[in-house]
Amino acid sequence: MSTPLHPADSRPVRTRVAPSPTGMLHLGTARTALFCWAFARHHGGTFVLRIEDTDIERSTEQAVQVIMDSMAWLNLEYDEGPFRQTDRLPRYKELLDQLLAEGKAYLCYATREEIDALRAEQTARGEKPRYDGRWRPERAAGRTPPPGVTPVIRFRNPDFGDVAWNDLVKGPISVSNTELDDLVIARGDGVPTYNFAVVVDDIDMRITHVLRGDDHVNNTPRQINIYRALLAPGEPLPRFGHLPMILGPDGQKLSKRHGAVSVLQYEEEGFLPEALFNYLARLGWSHGDAEKFSRDDMVQWFDLEHVNRAPAQYDIDKLLWLNGEYLKQADSARLASLVGPRLRVHGVDPAAADLTAIVTLYKERVKTLNELADEAMLFYADPHVPPELLAEHVKGPARDALAAFVAQAPDTPDWQRATIAALIKQVLVAHALKMPQLAVPLRVVVSGRTQTPSIDATLELLGRDAVLRRARAALAATAAQ
Ligand code: GLU
Repeated sequence: MSTPLHPADSRPVRTRVAPSPTGMLHLGTARTALFCWAFARHHGGTFVLRIEDTDIERSTEQAVQVIMDSMAWLNLEYDEGPFRQTDRLPRYKELLDQLLAEGKAYLCYATREEIDALRAEQTARGEKPRYDGRWRPERAAGRTPPPGVTPVIRFRNPDFGDVAWNDLVKGPISVSNTELDDLVIARGDGVPTYNFAVVVDDIDMRITHVLRGDDHVNNTPRQINIYRALLAPGEPLPRFGHLPMILGPDGQKLSKRHGAVSVLQYEEEGFLPEALFNYLARLGWSHGDAEKFSRDDMVQWFDLEHVNRAPAQYDIDKLLWLNGEYLKQADSARLASLVGPRLRVHGVDPAAADLTAIVTLYKERVKTLNELADEAMLFYADPHVPPELLAEHVKGPARDALAAFVAQAPDTPDWQRATIAALIKQVLVAHALKMPQLAVPLRVVVSGRTQTPSIDATLELLGRDAVLRRARAALAATAAQ
């Protein structure tokens, strides 16, 4: 059941995300998508995907695919779309013609040079640059359009009064019409500009809640005027909510300088979609002190009252922490299927070892799938063991114990955790050593590191041959000392 939210608007909830296909899906757009999705789901409504591709020079087919892939990876399923603005050009034309016929829009023949000159004069006078209405019909009466100039269409913005709305995030906002000029709503080639197309789409797609980034807040009063010009009296406008910006650690708008901003780059860098999803949910919204929660929790809890007004701060450490938490609880077979291709990149065949068992052993110790792949490599190729590490750990009584372990290992009945543990114990007793005095050298010789998961489990998974090969190489390398 859908819950009507606005007393004047009893329509079922419909939200949309409207990315422009000019490259990747930006983290900020993904966060907008997630909030729109959660809001629609919470209210039993509909979530629409729209591709804003009217910037024909910058839009690419590949970027459309990237948007869809990013949404699919994040598991942000939409109910309708993707609608494409380029499929809707006749509809925009129909409404542009209607506004022209009604005198709510007009043709403007001012050349770019003219507009630039106007702007320069205004700036020189210390005024805010704005179009001066020189082609408004009453001022242009009797003037012949200059030859060779293709006109744009401008919206005739009201001259007086205020545009006000109660922003679902920011609260009441009011802008005087004297601050707004006559906006270009269609270029010379007839293609509508963003502010016009977005209004037509949101009307036709019966969008009830426009949730989008704070960077659009200045467009909203202009759009509200266009809604009023297009809608019949009494027809409802959507409600607007402007989501806080995402800032980098230095307080500047999040950009590539701060790290990855493309959703699919997080996939590449070894994040789990559910971790990024959870992380994005918390960027500007909170539910008590809950940090880790499921999609279902989010749908149940999501409300606009708890969207922060203040900008959100991107924090890679928190994302890494969440990813680590999700890795710990993830199914090992699934993780193995995600780690496998990363091993192939390193040139090894994932099937050459028991990757699911390896993942089980390591998934609690890493923060990303890439780290998991790096750890797993130990089981596919002999590591480089730094000589200084060998010199430090494979010497004296520890080296003797290691040599004894190597001597006895071939006769150990089967290479199982328990039998390996028993062998280690036996060597320790015989050499009057404590656990770390053999476990650390063993770790160093088989992995090139002083820390690994439990040593018996690690050696079992490595297999007897690899353990003996690596240990013998280390003994040989340290023989002269
Ligand atoms: N194409 C716009 C953007 O990507 C959409 C803005 C809106 O949601 O109205 O920012």
